[in-house]
Amino acid sequence: MITIKTFVFNAFMVNTYLLYDETREAIIVDAGCADEYEENKLADFIESNGLKLVRNITTHCHVDHILGNAFIESQYNIRPEYHKASGPFLFTAKEVAATFGQEITGIPEAERFLEDEEMIKWGASELKVLLAPGHADGSVCLYNKEQGFVLTGDVMFAESIGRTDLPSGNYNLLIESIQEKLLTLPDNTIVYPGHGPETSIGHERKYNPFIR
Ligand SMILES: [Zn+2]
Ligand SMILES: [Zn+2]
Repeated sequence: MITIKTFVFNAFMVNTYLLYDETREAIIVDAGCADEYEENKLADFIESNGLKLVRNITTHCHVDHILGNAFIESQYNIRPEYHKASGPFLFTAKEVAATFGQEITGIPEAERFLEDEEMIKWGASELKVLLAPGHADGSVCLYNKEQGFVLTGDVMFAESIGRTDLPSGNYNLLIESIQEKLLTLPDNTIVYPGHGPETSIGHERKYNPFIR
């Protein structure tokens, strides 16, 4: 049984998710901790719950979703995994971060690249990678069928969708990704987005003005 702990980190208020199960192995998704206070908050939770962090998954390499990757590498010796098509965002991440007053201390190389439809395994748990471009190349959603939840990164939010005005953004492609990869999931699937509150596939099917 996977437990999901949500942290809201950095100036972009990204949702950083820690997923762990009864084995106490944990993975982090979108490590966004950007200063010592946030790093301590994360590390304290991991330690006080007796968790062992084993993987670091990045839904896409926009700066708000990678700010903590250097800390995860230095503290836990774990490098990030993301889709290869998302890699080019890292070339400009430092400059982009600086314009928002955020400092990137380092950009670790990928441990490996995620493949569409692969199963990310840890402990007794797994998540399926769903490639869903349109907000950004190489964006992935992470789906758990057994418990019925999906982490959507910046692909879809509660009653909203990811912006498409950044490099590689494509509105029609994003809508197509949402239709094909997310709206094909059961209505009671809980959605954990990259920003903002959780929602469900059924709620979005009904009330999301972009995809109704
Ligand atoms: Zn993004
Ligand atoms: Zn974001």
